[in-house]
Formats: sequence, C-alpha cells, structure tokens
Amino acid sequence: MFSLPGDFLSAIAADFPADFLLTDPADLKEYGRDWTRVIEPAASAVALPRSTDEVSRLLTLCHRHGVHIVPSGGRTGLAAGAVAAKGELVLSLQRMNKMFPVDLLGATVRVQAGAVTEAVHAHAAEHGLTWPVDFASKGSSQVGGNIATNAGGVRVIRYGLTRQWVLGLQVVLANGDVLELNGALEKNNTGADLRQLFIGSEGTLGVITEATLKLTRLPEKVEVLLFAVPDLAGVLSLFREARKGPFTVMAYEFFTEKCLTRLRRHRKAANPLSSPSDYYVLLEVERAESEAMEAWVGSVFERELATDGTQAQHSSQAAELWALREGISESLSATGLPHKNDIALPIAELQAFCAELEAFFEKRYPGWEIALFGHIGDGNLHLNVMKPDNLEKAEFCKKRARPTTTFLHLSKNTKGRFRPNTV
Ligand SMILES: Cc1cc2nc3c(=O)[nH]c(=O)nc-3n(C[C@H](O)[C@H](O)[C@H](O)COP(=O)(O)OP(=O)(O)OC[C@H]3O[C@@H](n4cnc5c(N)ncnc54)[C@H](O)[C@@H]3O)c2cc1C
Repeated sequence: MFSLPGDFLSAIAADFPADFLLTDPADLKEYGRDWTRVIEPAASAVALPRSTDEVSRLLTLCHRHGVHIVPSGGRTGLAAGAVAAKGELVLSLQRMNKMFPVDLLGATVRVQAGAVTEAVHAHAAEHGLTWPVDFASKGSSQVGGNIATNAGGVRVIRYGLTRQWVLGLQVVLANGDVLELNGALEKNNTGADLRQLFIGSEGTLGVITEATLKLTRLPEKVEVLLFAVPDLAGVLSLFREARKGPFTVMAYEFFTEKCLTRLRRHRKAANPLSSPSDYYVLLEVERAESEAMEAWVGSVFERELATDGTQAQHSSQAAELWALREGISESLSATGLPHKNDIALPIAELQAFCAELEAFFEKRYPGWEIALFGHIGDGNLHLNVMKPDNLEKAEFCKKRARPTTTFLHLSKNTKGRFRPNTV
C-alpha cells in the first residue's frame, strides 16, 4: 500500500472540497487500472477535479511535493497507459464532462476533457453534426483520452485519426501552468503547432482539460454489409473493389472465424450468414443508390470475390452486424487471456506480414490460437495471441515478455511498422 506525503495531504484538505480525493481500496483498484486488466493496480489515491483551475492547483502541489500522477480518462486503453502501478496519484477527468453549445457557424464544439465520446456524438447529432471519432469503447472513453492516444477507430478510412478533428486544446503542464493552444482557429500558420505535440502524447507532456472539436455533417443513407471470404487475399481483393464502388466507404473491417467463435462463447450473437468461412468483412458505405448498390453486390458474387453475404435491411440489423465486430475485444478478454498487439502496416504489405506471422507461430508456438481482426482500411491489425488453456498464466506471461525482439525482426522483414505492447 502506497501513501502520499502528509504535508501534501494537508494542503489538499485545506485547498480542495472534501470529496476531492478517494482513498477507498475498491476505488484505488477500479481507477488504478484500465481495460488491459493485466498489471496489478497500486494507486495511492484518486483525485477528481471539477475545473481546469483545480487541475492546475493540484499539479502545482504535486510538483512541489514530488507526487507522481497518472492522467485517467475512461480507462478503455488497451496498452496500460492509464494504469497506476507504482503508487501514483490517479487524476481522473470524470467530473469534467461539460459540453458547451455547438457553434453552428464554425461547426465546432468546446468540451471538457472528461466528456464521454458517445455523449459528444449525441450532443452534435442534435444539429445534424458529428465528431467522427468512433469505436467500440465510445460509451466509456473520454475526449481527453481519445486525444491523448490520437485514437483511430472504425472510420479512419473515411475521416482520418483524432488529430484531424481537434482545433484547439487547453492543457495543464506538470508545474501547473495552463496553456491555450490554437483556440478555435481553422487557419493558424504562426510558428510551431504545439497542439499537435500534445495529441498522442498519452499524458506524458501535460493534462488535457478542454478541447475545441471540429465537427462534420452526419452521414446520410448508410448501408452495412457482411461478406464471407475464403482468406486474407480475398479480404484485400474485396477491399480493392469496394474502393472503386458506387459509394463512399465509411468502414472496412475484417475478423476471423476464430474471433467469432470466441464472441459466441461469451455472448449471444446473430448468425446472419448460412455458410461459415475463415474470414469476414464488414463494409459500411454512404450514399449508395439502391440500383447501383445491387449491381455492385451482384458483381462481387459473380466474380466469386465473396462466398456469402448479407445487407442489413434496417438499423437494428445493421447494429447486429456491427455487434459481431465490436464485441470481439471484450470477448477475447472474457473467454481467455489475450496478449494484445496493435500493428500498423502499409496496406500493400498486410498479406506478406500475415503469411510470415502464421509461419512464425507455427514454428515457434505451434497450436497457439491467434485472434486476428482490425481496420483493413487503414492497415491496422489487432493481433491477439491467446494463452493456451494448458499453459499456466505465469509461464505465458514469461513467454510473452520475450517475443518483442523476434517480432521486430519479423516486421523488419516486411518493412512494416510494428508497435508491440509490452503488456
Ligand atoms: C472494445 C475496445 C475497442 C477499442 N477500439 C479502438 C480503436 O478502434 N482505435 C483506437 O485507437 N483505440 C481503440 N481502443 C482503445 C481506447 O478505447 C482508445 O485509445 C481511447 O481513445 C482511450 O480513451 P480513454 O478515455 O479510455 O483513455 P484512458 O484509457 O483513460 O487513457 C489512455 C491514455 O491517455 C492518457 N489520458 C487520458 N486522459 C487524458 C487527459 N485528459 N490528458 C492527458 N492524458 C490523458 C492516460 O494517461 C493514458 O496514457 C479500444 C478499446 C476497447 C476497450
């Protein structure tokens, strides 16, 4: 159990509201960990500020007393960035969830960093607008966490990364100084753009307390389709055709039968295709005219680019198809112990990388289950190596601490960029 310096605690008691700090063991456990659930949390306390001023005064005190902090958003991160494992003080942005009125002329909205991603979507949707940062954890993740991780998601192929949708930032530095970066300016070519430095810095440079977000119109006439394809080459061939299709591609996601099997072990899921396959593609498109869409789907089957497929007929069917893809992460953790890796590759190198990956595992770890899924549209693979049932957790953890160098060697061969998670 870690404890904070007595004079630091006295200063907190004197300067902040009585409910500012949590120290209950159950709270320390909950706020001290994120979705990875692998590293044992060991936070010393949890601070829950309500304003930028409180964050600034807290960081000034931490700086003075040498107290280390971990900024904490929705704790949906999968790389243990928000885990407090060494007695750090967790600085949760949870209470800072205010959303200001949407600026319809500028198509922007200012929010506090603790605003939940999905709540921002709902706020903007009232005006026919959206903040197009979107993924399965949107119901819990916060704008501050999205910005701190420069989050991607399922619509990167259409809209790009979070970076593209942040106009201005307010951040508090470790010594308590408050910076306003870029305001709400679309055009600002005066000097270096410090805002971009904070986007993706994962809490290492400062705490994001507010942001001005750029909005875009809500998509119209969205269609969701699911295809079965025989192999990864098939996933890529269909992608080539989709890019040429008579519509705008909003999302192009893939997953394997192994992922679906895990999903079904965890929860009830729709079974929309009559014949199973090793690989599936979820395609979401915008502005497809019915006749053109029908012709395109027909040509996909005529040319045997897919072995089976279905198109959602209404929004609840579309949600069922999306649930197949979005429930995977949760199912892998619920039914086993995944070692997660997030890999970004040029799309052209995905197939060679996966072939090499398969050969590598067959040779080094025969019989180990690999659950592969991801956002083919932007070359992002989620590679989950599952702990074999007959292997002790400690032995698995020992083995997974090792493969990094081998994996880096692998990625060098395929000239890709590979960022291994160390958890
Ligand atoms: C089911 C599921 C699907 C996911 N899909 C995707 C996906 O498709 N693409 C993707 O990119 N990610 C994905 N993620 C990962 C995660 O949801 C995102 O990275 C999300 O942006 C993290 O936001 P958060 O608020 O939960 O941040 P947290 O997990 O709380 O924190 C993440 C990091 O940001 C720092 N941080 C948090 N708030 C602040 C702040 N206000 N100021 C400074 N630093 C801060 C933390 O210290 C930590 O280092 C997924 C996660 C889950 C569980």
